[in-house]
Amino acid sequence: MTTVDSAAFAAAVRREAADWDARGALPAEVVKAVAHAGFLAADLPATFGGGDRTQADLGQLCADFGGVCSALRALVTVQGMVAAAVLRWGTAGQRAHWLPALARGDVLAGFAATEAGAGSDLSAVTTSAEREGGQVRLRGRKLWVTFGQLADVFLVLVGCAGRPVAVLVEADRPGTVAEPVRGQLGMRAARLAHVRFDGVLVPAENLLAPPGFGLSHVAATALDHGRFTVAWGCVGMAEACLRAAAEHASDRVQGGVRLAGHQTVRALLGRSLADTSAARGLCARAAALRETGDPEAVAGTVLAKYVAARAAAAVADRAGQVLGAAGCAEDSLVGRFFRDAKVMRIIEGTDEVAEQQLGEYALRWRP
Ligand SMILES: Cc1cc2nc3c(=O)[nH]c(=O)nc-3n(C[C@H](O)[C@H](O)[C@H](O)COP(=O)(O)OP(=O)(O)OC[C@H]3O[C@@H](n4cnc5c(N)ncnc54)[C@H](O)[C@@H]3O)c2cc1C
Repeated sequence: MTTVDSAAFAAAVRREAADWDARGALPAEVVKAVAHAGFLAADLPATFGGGDRTQADLGQLCADFGGVCSALRALVTVQGMVAAAVLRWGTAGQRAHWLPALARGDVLAGFAATEAGAGSDLSAVTTSAEREGGQVRLRGRKLWVTFGQLADVFLVLVGCAGRPVAVLVEADRPGTVAEPVRGQLGMRAARLAHVRFDGVLVPAENLLAPPGFGLSHVAATALDHGRFTVAWGCVGMAEACLRAAAEHASDRVQGGVRLAGHQTVRALLGRSLADTSAARGLCARAAALRETGDPEAVAGTVLAKYVAARAAAAVADRAGQVLGAAGCAEDSLVGRFFRDAKVMRIIEGTDEVAEQQLGEYALRWRP
């Protein structure tokens, strides 16, 4: 259970985030501090060392972190994704083994699903697991694993005898190789890696859920959790960009007029306020649906993430317009979020994939 307020934690590190981004690394001591404060497992049950926090609390934590640094929020996201999958689909033994360690941050997790030929369509993964007695042998290469450079364990989506399977692979197993990724468009401090599994042997006990459940159940649970936390992170990004734009518009004078004195500038701010408020409202709705286990919770989370990611991108874009050159500076929060927000429209389901899901939701939607 955390005793530190996530808003206070975020405020304390706010000035350092641009430097982390420039260096491409969230510092190890910050990762430790996040774990120590209990932020890695805010919503896990207390029986497994978690904070037993509500979905709304988890969301606000991600908004607080997202408003400062997307990598900081991503750390909470990936740890939560893997923990959620183990909590939902793990055996009693797997839960007891993994969850307290994940909650304490003794074990950092990565979610490894994407491959060269399998992005939006994860049913196309070719990473394979073959049974060898009481073990399985993994072969394949995963791409874009957030915090893959630091992860102690990967939740890996593979094919086993033609069926999707999820397997937990410790990073120190021989044949597991993390290749650091640097300089990507956004989330630069999130220590990404492409990860190779060159004939890695793991015990069959590391398989999560029955064969065949790997994508539709295990990965789906992880991605649903990820979408929720990304959505709230986007709310934080949009709010931070709107604040920066409003402050700049109030302070800066050109031609004897404050920028905020121009109708066109106020319109940019107004549109951003509308987008930001809509995103927060849908995220709050998703939190409420999840809290009660409502059958609409999954679709409500897709909707919240879709709207929030687009809001973050639009608000960062407009804020950059209001800031002018100041938004283009190396250490500009708005400039950084402009890059990060593009990534938010791609991860945990692209806009276009979400639109397909929302279209299906719309067909059965009864207001
Ligand atoms: C910074 C970052 C961090 C990431 N972290 C992780 C991670 O931790 N773990 C992990 O496994 N992956 C991770 N990813 C990968 C991410 O999940 C994928 O990039 C994403 O799923 C999209 O896959 P893709 O890039 O292969 O795009 P593609 O699937 O090739 O899509 C390209 C374009 O085609 C469109 N498209 C594809 N299919 C359809 C369709 N059916 N209908 C309409 N349009 C479609 C897409 O919307 C998109 O516009 C990360 C990526 C980035 C950039």
